[in-house]
Amino acid sequence: MTVKNIGILCSGGDSPGMNCAIRAVVRTAISRGIQVTGIKRGYAGLLRGEFMQMNLSSVGNIIQRGGTILQTSRSPEFQKAEFRKKAVDILRAQHVDALIVIGGDGSFNGAMALWKEHQFPVVGIPGTIDNDISNTEYTIGFNTAVQTAIEAVDRIRDTAHSHARTFLVEVMGRNSSAIALKVGVCTGAENILLPHDKVNHQKLVDDINRGIARGKESSIIVVAEGPVAGRSYDIQHVLKDMYHLDAHVAILGHIQRGGSPVADDRFIASQMGNMAVEALLAGNVPSVTVVQKGKVLMTDLANCTTKADHNYIEYSGLAETLSI
Ligand code: ATP
Repeated sequence: MTVKNIGILCSGGDSPGMNCAIRAVVRTAISRGIQVTGIKRGYAGLLRGEFMQMNLSSVGNIIQRGGTILQTSRSPEFQKAEFRKKAVDILRAQHVDALIVIGGDGSFNGAMALWKEHQFPVVGIPGTIDNDISNTEYTIGFNTAVQTAIEAVDRIRDTAHSHARTFLVEVMGRNSSAIALKVGVCTGAENILLPHDKVNHQKLVDDINRGIARGKESSIIVVAEGPVAGRSYDIQHVLKDMYHLDAHVAILGHIQRGGSPVADDRFIASQMGNMAVEALLAGNVPSVTVVQKGKVLMTDLANCTTKADHNYIEYSGLAETLSI
């Protein structure tokens, strides 16, 4: 397999640090004499032939920027084999001989299908704030999203304390507990509700009242959004109607996706982008960059095509103990 021109795209939800990965791919490839073709708006842009030639300066001054200069999308069409065939035809016509996909497990399934159906060489880089991909301890964007949420909860704590209030703070995580758990531990939350937890309202009320009895002036309950965002309002209503307890709601929403990537995201994304290019040049496909035991390394792409909700789950006991 000779690689002369690498295509790169972002797919699924954006996450802070994707730009660092794009930059690392482009700079590594060019330093090895390889061309890079940027593909705009994910698989949807690929199917429309939205290409841009990348050079050293096209990735200048982006390392600190959130989002992705290539933009991203979700493409229902790409789930169909006929459109994946079309995508490979477009790539080959453009003389792109390998593809790097930055995204989540869904995006990796799309990449895997390109390999299985057309032997098109692919490498994945995990980019999602949810940190919910199997066989990797880390996904680009997670720590930035967590840091953003921590700063928001700290501010909410200030006002909650001043007025002796209870707040339900909803963070992102449809299926993933990782953001809620890390934010909960780092902000000293009195309670953390994970995406699929059945809410025990009585326990929430008992915990809040126990805190008040020992002199606490505020309570923060971190709520993972779960399958339907806005879940905190349902909890708020039950607390009010059944327990006469007033709680305020703050939904952090998309601010968690934006902003300048923190050091970990920049550092890991830079390593992953570099390693992804080296893997392609070594013929190590289909593969994916992962973090295992704290180290960035390569594994088979097939290991990372499912969701995992184990990251940080071991810290739920810690959160509970420290919030006593
Ligand atoms: P995030 O974690 O941010 O949601 P993701 O990569 O998991 O990221 P998805 O919406 O699941 O996000 O997938 C992104 C795109 O990948 C889809 O819009 C679709 O184009 C493609 N894709 C997802 N699953 C498959 C599949 N099984 N086969 C082919 N393509 C797929």
